[in-house]
Amino acid sequence: MVDAYFPATYSEARSNFLSACTAAELAVESYENPEKGPDDEALYCDVALLGDPNAPGVVVTTSATHGVEGYAGSGIQVGMLRDPAAPRPSPNVALLFIHTINPHGMAWLRRENEDNVDLNRNFVDHAGGNYPENDLFEELVDYLVPSVWDDNAYETYKSAITELNQKYGEVPVRKAMHKGQYRHPNSIHYGGDKATWSNETLSRICVEFLDQAERAVMIDLHTGLGPYGYGELMTPSKPGEAVFDRLHDWYGDEVHSTTAGATLYAGSKGSILAGFRPPVDGLEWAAVGLEYGTREREHIRRCMLANTWLHLHGDLDSELGRQIRRDFWDCYYPDESEWKQLVWERSNEVIGIALERMAAELKT
Ligand SMILES: [Zn+2]
Repeated sequence: MVDAYFPATYSEARSNFLSACTAAELAVESYENPEKGPDDEALYCDVALLGDPNAPGVVVTTSATHGVEGYAGSGIQVGMLRDPAAPRPSPNVALLFIHTINPHGMAWLRRENEDNVDLNRNFVDHAGGNYPENDLFEELVDYLVPSVWDDNAYETYKSAITELNQKYGEVPVRKAMHKGQYRHPNSIHYGGDKATWSNETLSRICVEFLDQAERAVMIDLHTGLGPYGYGELMTPSKPGEAVFDRLHDWYGDEVHSTTAGATLYAGSKGSILAGFRPPVDGLEWAAVGLEYGTREREHIRRCMLANTWLHLHGDLDSELGRQIRRDFWDCYYPDESEWKQLVWERSNEVIGIALERMAAELKT
């Protein structure tokens, strides 16, 4: 039953979402990406609002910020529309679905978008060219995307990282790797040199759908980090700040700050959570990432580097290319009923609490 919500292709995800909206009698606004998918299919971000369009509160879910992670995100969103037992909006809180904000990455099985940009590093001020510094990345960059991918390439990468860890410490090296970089368009975690299509589209969507709202919370759906099937809640805000304190009030110790104290996560200033604010006057905004664990960390890292190499230097249709793509996809979307069930149940819990708590807050 739950399995049926989770798609096998981008096109299936889109048609599942559109037919779920039709069944729920919802209008859909579609935003077309300038590029095409691997089967020359058109790519869209589709948006629908469940509940009262004039509700003062809105719970927003976004999928596919990291392209390939959108298969799980789409499954959650389609299930929310299809399952009568899923959490429902109330008269004062609506539920907005932003389905596949980075459809290109999803269709092509990449985390990045059509410009090799990691959308979760793209929400910075591009106008002045004052990008967040990341000097240590310069020492990593030569080892990340080799010209040839084989076991040797990964071993070379691992020994380079071990050496840099000894020199600078593990945490600074990990942060340099993940926080984003703005100088190497053909490497990982590249934040781009302008607002991407997805970035601008997200602003347009918010203007269109949140104009009436007083308060909104965005739940951005991700996979690939943390324990298998568990959805961890993450925010770049810190204890003592309004956003963190509200989320903590809702979710207790299940919410983690990516910037305070000891954390596995290297918060990026250009993430959708940290860097995006809807261009809507007077809107009280909070954003939280919901990150579902999949496979073991080291395995994911290896597959991620291989997939980056493949798209920049390899042949997608070679035997090696197909293998890399299969492994990479599995890292972000395990094709296992148990995993999908866990993801689904946790989503119900998290989204249900957001709807309920926001409704209660708006009444007082
Ligand atoms: Zn992600």
